[in-house]
Amino acid sequence: FDQLDGEIWLNGRFVPWADAKVHVLTHGLHYASSVFEGERAYGGVIFKLTEHTERLVESGRILGFEIPYTVAEIDAACNETLARQGFSDAYIRPVAWRGSEMMGVSAQHNRINLAIAVWDWPSYFDPAEKLKGIRLDMARYRRPDPATAPSKSKAAGLYMICTLCKHEAEAKGYADALMLDWRGRVAEATGANIFFVRDGELHTPVPDAFLDGITRRTVIDLARARGLTVNERVIMPEEMESFEQCFLTGTAAEVTPVSEIGPYRFAVGEIATTMMNDYARAVRPETASIAAE
Ligand code: PMP
Repeated sequence: FDQLDGEIWLNGRFVPWADAKVHVLTHGLHYASSVFEGERAYGGVIFKLTEHTERLVESGRILGFEIPYTVAEIDAACNETLARQGFSDAYIRPVAWRGSEMMGVSAQHNRINLAIAVWDWPSYFDPAEKLKGIRLDMARYRRPDPATAPSKSKAAGLYMICTLCKHEAEAKGYADALMLDWRGRVAEATGANIFFVRDGELHTPVPDAFLDGITRRTVIDLARARGLTVNERVIMPEEMESFEQCFLTGTAAEVTPVSEIGPYRFAVGEIATTMMNDYARAVRPETASIAAE
């Protein structure tokens, strides 16, 4: 991945893709003092760019650091990087981290670096599998208590357990894994939020220990605009037995139907498909107004 073509925005200037490097004694690498975003551009426009940038800045503040650029400057840098890469549909990855000036748990004065890379990432899950509904494993690890970890930050350190769970799921032939929270409630997948459907209503867990995804909020708005009821509430795993449909939401995953979670089965039904199509319209500048009607 470090040999792609093009340029990466690194601390205010563009560098050739292969030269965008950090030192091995980078604090972010050793102690996970790193936060990031995942954004998508459709038709040359980054969907909800400023919301993503604000979350990035807030993620850094939660880890105790200030990214040395304003939201407007970061927005402009994302747009410029996208334009330079020449894609109209693309994935955008800003990442901020503490540098290599001091080594040790404490690194109060290390420089805060920011990089932005843009690449072509058409589908997070296999497109054929997505249409049939993807299969999820039950994850080994749980989302931590907010008193244990800064769970509202999109912090690299919180993804350690996500990668472990996803790898384990993939090794067993699943596309992803469903993580419970520390209380044993249904939480989210390893990089996406989760929704269920029963009797024409949507049900999704309260995001008190994981990211309240931008896609999640968009889908809630789109569903309510259609007159659908959305229940944000506590969902225990046993209740999955009674749900008819299920889907994941995330910037990379978009809206992805789920057919299976451990012992539970779901249909790729009308509401999951409708939300998938509504979201696909809402993200594209040329069809966004239709989706909002
Ligand atoms: N949860 C996790 C763990 C994620 O990585 C993501 C993707 N950023 C989400 C939820 C969904 O967030 P969003 O819709 O803002 O992309």
